Amino acid sequence: MSEIQGHYKEDWHSSWWYQPWLRLLVGFATISFVISVSVHESGLESFFFIGLSLLFVVPLEKLIPRHPIGTFRPELLTDLFHHFVSGFLGVVPLIFLYPLLHEFQWATLTSLIQSQPVWLQIAGALLLSEFLIYWGHRFSHEIPFLWRFHSVHHSSKNLDWLAGERRHPVDQACMSFFVGIPMILSGFSLVDLLIVGVLQNLWDMTIHANLGWRLKLLDGIWVTSEFHHWHHSLNPEARDKNYSGALPVYDWLFRTYYLPKDKKPGPYGIDTHMPETYLGQLIQPFVFQEKTRLFDNR
Ligand SMILES: [Zn+2]
Ligand SMILES: [Zn+2]
Repeated sequence: MSEIQGHYKEDWHSSWWYQPWLRLLVGFATISFVISVSVHESGLESFFFIGLSLLFVVPLEKLIPRHPIGTFRPELLTDLFHHFVSGFLGVVPLIFLYPLLHEFQWATLTSLIQSQPVWLQIAGALLLSEFLIYWGHRFSHEIPFLWRFHSVHHSSKNLDWLAGERRHPVDQACMSFFVGIPMILSGFSLVDLLIVGVLQNLWDMTIHANLGWRLKLLDGIWVTSEFHHWHHSLNPEARDKNYSGALPVYDWLFRTYYLPKDKKPGPYGIDTHMPETYLGQLIQPFVFQEKTRLFDNR
């Protein structure tokens, strides 16, 4: 363990919120929250993700792995907690916001968009949402305050079917609002937004997965696991690259496209301390750190 990491560990252990009774209480409250939310609100969506992954993505990872990772790799349970909590936080704000923001939609633009054929509405919603995802993601790297929360997502050392679910609720909520509010105001229907959201989420299941496929035919057209694995790579050449969620055209347009033909991505992670537990990762962005972002020499 490096000197910096050791220093953080000491800080972490001596903090008041590290007391066992407090961790137990917060842990119990979180578990109760997660279970009640899963059952009553986002249960279907969350369990649908797990079911689809176990049926299709996990067997594919066994067939064509990119790296040798065990099925029960470290921090799997931590990521499972993230999946249930952040998945819920990503969807619910929009469901509450839609009726409120619906009132402020510009009628002319709304009727223009909604008079188009469905395929064109979906293509438009995809292009606009990908543009917003690109910039929301880029800001979460370039603004140090936002990086504190987004670095939780980047702290995974093993990328697989569940690793992408590791997101701090604040990071998830910021992204949902940044993408969701303009999307609703621009006049797309809730059905358009849901169809695009489902498409993006289904593909998202594969981009973090431990899949050794190269999918060269999709280079520059659609984001592949290799493309997004570079985004998580500790390699200095790959830093602040490949922000796109599904359409790499925005990385190409804004000069952040990185997909070398002769190298493979990895290792992954961040160079600052991140606790391994779910609760620790929730709190870590609020802990003072001298060094708050990757390769802090820009
Ligand atoms: Zn990122
Ligand atoms: Zn990612």
